[in-house]
Amino acid sequence: MIWGLGAMGSGIASALLAKEGVRIVGAIDVDPRKVGRDMGAALSPPRPGTGIVVTDIPTALLKDVRPHVCVIATSSFLADVLPQVKAAVGAGANVITIAEEMAFPQAVNKGASAEIDRRAREAGVSVLGTGINPGFVLDTLIIALTGACTEVTGIRARRVNDLSPFGPTVLKTQGVGTTPEEFQRGVDAGTIVGHVGFAQSLSMIARAVGWGLDRIDEVKEPIVSQTRRQTPFIEIEPGQVAGCDHSARGYIGDDEVITLEHPQQIQPEAEGKETGDFVTVEGTPGVRMAIQPEIAGGIGTMALAVNMIPAVVAAQPGLLTMDMLPVPRSIMGDFRGLVFGGSQGGGEGVRGDVK
Ligand code: NAD
Repeated sequence: MIWGLGAMGSGIASALLAKEGVRIVGAIDVDPRKVGRDMGAALSPPRPGTGIVVTDIPTALLKDVRPHVCVIATSSFLADVLPQVKAAVGAGANVITIAEEMAFPQAVNKGASAEIDRRAREAGVSVLGTGINPGFVLDTLIIALTGACTEVTGIRARRVNDLSPFGPTVLKTQGVGTTPEEFQRGVDAGTIVGHVGFAQSLSMIARAVGWGLDRIDEVKEPIVSQTRRQTPFIEIEPGQVAGCDHSARGYIGDDEVITLEHPQQIQPEAEGKETGDFVTVEGTPGVRMAIQPEIAGGIGTMALAVNMIPAVVAAQPGLLTMDMLPVPRSIMGDFRGLVFGGSQGGGEGVRGDVK
């Protein structure tokens, strides 16, 4: 079942429609332009009729279709998706959500995380937050690289991306088009948020390698443009803000052991900035990785939500994070073989076809 048919939910639904051994049994959205329509017509871009009618009444649908997995793509924040996660778990569904805060919800709300874990165990299902970032580039991928090191003394990583394809909502949250003064006021007021997910990625990496962080500091700086830049959604002049240079540092005592940077701006090439994902693991051996350009965020997120389905269905019940599951992989074969065939560690607790 897909909960939230926006840019990401649409892409996830389209990807699933093309897969074998997995079937979409329901779709939920609150947008009046989507409710009551066939899911195919509500997707962007639209697809042929699916026979599934989009509804805004989740409880009735969950009871009716009893999905094995519910993919939630409605919001970034734990507080927003918590009722949705609870409803899905209460109906006996495993949950995969791309809400950034759910990638490691303990970082924002330990009580709510414990409650999700308890409810999931009681229902015999699992709950996972994933996505490109948090969920992959600045955490799972880094954790995997440390597997080749006997010792790790520090981690530095940087995801440099291009905001040009994004619309007004995203541009606003990054402060694009503001003056430096307006940017600072927006950061202080909480309207310019930068990247959501640093606390999650840092906490996941630290727990995975066995570090206890004493504190996490975050900094948001305006990227002030020296040039005129233009996208389909906005034009900015020299002196205006092209994006947000957001970074986070994790400390053990006074030692900065993890540094994650995520500068996001429109048209980075206008000032010679190359996009990419860059990781340095300091240790034995040292590891340096560069992916250029950066892994595409939208498709990457849709792919992770789809590809983690067999692992989540097969996993032990409870609240999961990406570091607790098998290495992510693209699922090109029949989903049923993976869920029941045991390449993900067996399908204990799974009954019937995966819907
Ligand atoms: P979007 O705004 O295009 O779509 C959200 C959809 O959810 C809309 O169709 C909206 O009508 C629907 N919706 C909102 N609240 C709802 C509710 N209570 N019940 C039912 N439907 C509801 O956003 P998007 O680009 O699809 O992204 C979805 C979320 O995923 C965003 O918060 C985004 O930040 C996050 N995200 C995370 C990652 C990651 O790497 N973890 C990557 C991409 C997006």
